[in-house]
Amino acid sequence: MNADIFEKIIAHCKEYGFVFPSSEIYGGQAAVYDYGPNGVELKNKLRQYWYQSMTRLHSNVVGLDSSIFMHPTTWKASGHVDGFNDPMIDNKDSKKRYRADVLVEDYQEKIRGKIKKELTKAAKRFGEDFDPKMYAETNPRVQGYHTQIKEIDARLKAGLENSDLADVKALIEELGIGCPVSGSKNWTEVRQFNLMYSTQMSATDGEQVLYLRPETAQGIFVNFLNVQKTSRQKLPFGIAQTGKAFRNEIVARQFIMRMKEFEQLEMQFFCRPGTEMEWYEKWKESRIKWHKALGTPEAKYRFHDHVKMAHYANAAVDIEYEFPFGFKEVEGIHSRTDFDLKQHEEHSGKKLRYFDPEINESYVPYVVETSIGLDRLFLLNLCQAYTEEKLENESRIVLKFHPAIAPISAAILPLVKKDGLPEIAETLYKELKFDFNVHIEDKDSIGRRYRRMDALGTPFCITIDHDSLANQDCTIRYRDSMEQKRVKLSEVKAIIEAETSMSSLLKTLV
Ligand code: ATP
Repeated sequence: MNADIFEKIIAHCKEYGFVFPSSEIYGGQAAVYDYGPNGVELKNKLRQYWYQSMTRLHSNVVGLDSSIFMHPTTWKASGHVDGFNDPMIDNKDSKKRYRADVLVEDYQEKIRGKIKKELTKAAKRFGEDFDPKMYAETNPRVQGYHTQIKEIDARLKAGLENSDLADVKALIEELGIGCPVSGSKNWTEVRQFNLMYSTQMSATDGEQVLYLRPETAQGIFVNFLNVQKTSRQKLPFGIAQTGKAFRNEIVARQFIMRMKEFEQLEMQFFCRPGTEMEWYEKWKESRIKWHKALGTPEAKYRFHDHVKMAHYANAAVDIEYEFPFGFKEVEGIHSRTDFDLKQHEEHSGKKLRYFDPEINESYVPYVVETSIGLDRLFLLNLCQAYTEEKLENESRIVLKFHPAIAPISAAILPLVKKDGLPEIAETLYKELKFDFNVHIEDKDSIGRRYRRMDALGTPFCITIDHDSLANQDCTIRYRDSMEQKRVKLSEVKAIIEAETSMSSLLKTLV
């Protein structure tokens, strides 16, 4: 793992106002974070990119904002009261608690690391003629590693699906997995642990126990008919919603990767039974295209089919990104069948059916879900953007965000705070501020101001100098190439618009 880079990214987030530990003055709160001024801009833009691509680019996807508190029977029906558990294991020596499946998955990741090493070695040995696919298929050692990964997958899946937790522990012992902190192999039994938070709400007839929603999806399911009828949608159609979710994650780690309070961007697509696999494939394709439009290279993503299928799904895949600590899930795409709607019908006694005029039949729709964690998406984009560059006489840290999601779209830098330059800056600022997040920066030397804007990921710096007065022009500096161009002040808006507007990014998807 590239721990060093990851530590630097975390420190960068704090220093530049992206992410702060929650309640820091009281010593912080584990696995809870706050987003600072630049973080909130990035987060809002990512949310906007998701929501607009869902609802504007698909005329059959509409929005919803359901509440965090829901009737408690919702969670009985959804299976969360009885089944939303993680298999936990404790190390008796270090007293650290882990998710048993994550320990096994980390072990598999190490085997994948060995495969990668083998391929790198072989590539060096064979030079230009090297065919990695052929090598992976024929080399006995690499094949052995692949078989090992598959066998571990099968065993873990069987253990979890059959609730044979003793065998999951046996697997950990047989693989010789030690505590990542102490190395000790002195493990407790594997136990199930429910992840929902509960709280009380006063009601006229006493106290009621409520849950903080662990996913936004159920708010969509219980509103299925309200939305379908009021938006006059025919099947297939989708409902998109963004919002907070809460999970009592015991093993919170890797910064904002796994938090107790986080935000989800979820879309449930309702379709005719029997067509779900077709939609599942379409959404898989559409979602990876959406990710790649942000400029992340294809090689940094992979699809990972679920080993342990959730109780509601008949197909499930994760989109994983290669973080500095390895490939990890960012988004889940699940074919949820009619499980949720049927459960809600049963528990509420209300029908949740759709009359399909094309086949003259009424049925409970099937659902394909795309579910992404906004915080993980944020972390993905930070990790991808964070670049340390050596320049001729110095170095710089630059966040190479896609310009449309950069917290600040452009910085206006008057060279000096006199001679009429601040006034030109102010006029330009007033022209741009209605469409873009622009900042005027007038402190420090111009070089230091450029470095600060690089570190925030600002795609454009617009420098106002003495020539600007006479010529009504300025220098526009491009963040990634550091190229500088002289342009008219009247041209600035169109240049920024072309690269940083959300519509320019959305257009790349169609
Ligand atoms: P994991 O296996 O990592 O616990 P999951 O499969 O339980 O995730 P889902 O229930 O499918 O996750 O949730 C959808 C998305 O929500 C995930 O892909 C992830 O991006 C995000 N997410 C889930 N749990 C957390 C968390 N504790 N903190 C931040 N994001 C999360």
